[in-house]
Formats: sequence, structure tokens, C-alpha cells
Amino acid sequence: MKINFFEYQKIYTSKKKNFLNIFNKVCSKGAFILQKDLEDFEINLQRFQNIKYAVGVNDGTTALILSLMANNINRNDEVILPSHTYIASAAAIKLIGAKPVFADISFDDNLIDPISIKKKINSRTKAIMPVHVNGRICNMEEISLIAKKNKIKIIEDGAQSIGAKFNGKAAGYYGNCATLSFYPAKILGCFGDGGAVLTNNKKIYEKVKLLRDHGRNKAGEVQLWGYNARLDNIQAAILNYKMNFLKREINIRRKIASIYNNELSSLEDLNLPPGPDNKKNNFDVFQNYEIRAYNRDKLKSFLAKNGIKTIIQWSGKAIHQIKKLNFDRIYLPNTEKFFKECLMLPMHTFLKENEVLYISKKIKEFYTK
Ligand SMILES: *Cc1c(COP(=O)(O)O)cnc(C)c1O
Repeated sequence: MKINFFEYQKIYTSKKKNFLNIFNKVCSKGAFILQKDLEDFEINLQRFQNIKYAVGVNDGTTALILSLMANNINRNDEVILPSHTYIASAAAIKLIGAKPVFADISFDDNLIDPISIKKKINSRTKAIMPVHVNGRICNMEEISLIAKKNKIKIIEDGAQSIGAKFNGKAAGYYGNCATLSFYPAKILGCFGDGGAVLTNNKKIYEKVKLLRDHGRNKAGEVQLWGYNARLDNIQAAILNYKMNFLKREINIRRKIASIYNNELSSLEDLNLPPGPDNKKNNFDVFQNYEIRAYNRDKLKSFLAKNGIKTIIQWSGKAIHQIKKLNFDRIYLPNTEKFFKECLMLPMHTFLKENEVLYISKKIKEFYTK
């Protein structure tokens, strides 16, 4: 059996006729920039996340930059985030002139640890950026309490978290705003780059809308310095269509995760992510299924020999470990241990149950032989 980590072509070929139809309809109208499909998509997104305002932008990284700017995070301000994240989270902070300050993760769910956040707060701290890695929302109740007490803001990096909930609330509810990414391999992906900012705050919404389009208001008058950060109308039309089966796709991901959890939970050499059936606060959407594994590198090559492609996320490095970026020396023990052990198993909506069982069987074989 051969199992790919992800199926980029199938995203298109599985519904090719419908996509060609959309392309034809939108382009025949000449509706390319800031058109109705984008407005419709923003409304769909608001409904799906149950958040008041959504703004489509050109990618998830820019969504973070605009979110920080709209919240008045300025030069030399400090923003606390996990080092267990994609470079984009830290880059957004750095590129507006602020300073990324890294907190450690908790092994409960490999997400930013509120206890570590508290230790990193000082008079220059202006915001916390929790990152909902792998489609699980951070403990937003505790993070909100910390933010309130210290009068600092929360900008959620929700790039991997569309549809995920904490206490029934999606990304954007607890924070001042949240971001999404529609990179093709994300849970809701388009055919290129795309992203969004979500917020319940009207002022932030209005500012992000200005920042997205050269600082211009509806009449075209410039109100402030802005970017060209618009989400293409054609991408919005594709996303609109894909939202029709987003719920179903999330359920497929949760089903796959529950099979992995059932099959692998008896192996003491593995640490599995919390399963979808945990009765706690989280509803997880499993952007990725990432385990911590004893003898990780040998397991990875054993699976490769058996036709199973796995990935060590982010080149196996936390952000503070990237040498060329010259961070101050800090020690984040859980994060560093995490990157020595982490491995992502195939997780996408084209996976079949027998394939998930085959992957599980091979993993069990590796640890019991
Ligand atoms: C994908 C991702 C981003 C960036 O999104 P792009 O659309 O690729 O710019 C930011 N943060 C995290 C955690 C991501 O996974």
C-alpha cells in the first residue's frame, strides 16, 4: 500500500467539473476584485464561526499583520506566543517592529501553557498570540483571564483551526481578533493563498477593512496607510463552494483521529493527541494528527519503507531554535522535547478507513517486533 501525506491534486480533480463551472461563471462576469463572491464568503464565514465580522485577505500571515496593526501593537511592544508554531506567527510580530517573546507548551495538548505565559509578562507586554495548532483551540478561559488582569490584548492565530471550538466558541470569540488561513492544505483550502480576520469588535473590523485595501473607505477616500491585502474574488467563490461540505470534512477528520486513537492508545512508546471523544471543553478539528514518538526517526523510516509518508513539522525546529534568526538564548524544555519526538501521520479527507488501519498496524508492528 502507498499512502501519501496529503493529496494536493485530488482537491481539484475530485470535483473538477464544479470548479470549472465556478471559474467560468466568475471570470465571464469579470468579477475579480472585491466582488459579491467575497462578500458572500465573508457572511458564510461569520455564520460558520459564529463571529460578528469576517474580512477576507490574501493569506494567513497578512491576516496576522493586519490584526496586530488594527489592535495598535507598535514598535518595541512585546507579544507572547508559543515557539511551537509556524514561522509566520513570529514573522508577523517581527515585521511590524514588535518583539516576539516565546512561552513554553504544556504536554496536555502541546499548545501554549498559560503558566509559562504568566512568567513572560512584563511592562512592555502588549498582547498574547495563542496559536491553535493542529485544529485545537488553546485554553482560552485561562488566557483571557491573564489578558484581562494584565490589560493586554489577545490576537489568536487560528490558521489551523476553522470549525474548532473551546466551550462552544470558535477562534475570534475570546480574543480581540483571530486569523484563518486558506492555504491549500489547510482544513478549508483554496487554490493558492488566502486568509481571513475574524472579530466581534466593530472598530477592529472597520480598521482591518481599511488596511486591506490601501486604507481606502467605500468611497475610495484614503483614511490611513494600508496594504493591498485583498482576497481574490475567484478564491472566495471557490471557498464559498467548499464551505458546503466543510462540516462533513471535519467529521471525516475526527473519525480518522478516533481510529488512530483507538488503535494506538495501548502503545506506551507514543503520546497521542487528545481524542475527539474527550468530554472536556474542546471540539477539535484535526488539521493534523501529530504524535510524540519514542525512537521517532526510526519509526519514520520504517513507515516510509512500508509506503507511508509522514512529516516532521516545521523542519523539526521550534522558532527559537532557528539559528539564522539570532534569538536571545532561552530554554523551553517542553517545546524542545516536543520537536525531538513529533511526527505527523497522514490526515486528510481522502484517506480511507482501511488505510488508517494499515498505518496503525505498521506502527504497532514497529513497537512490538
Ligand atoms: C498556515 C499557517 C499560517 C500562515 O498562513 P498562510 O496563509 O500560509 O500565510 C500561520 N500560522 C499557522 C499556525 C499556520 O499553520
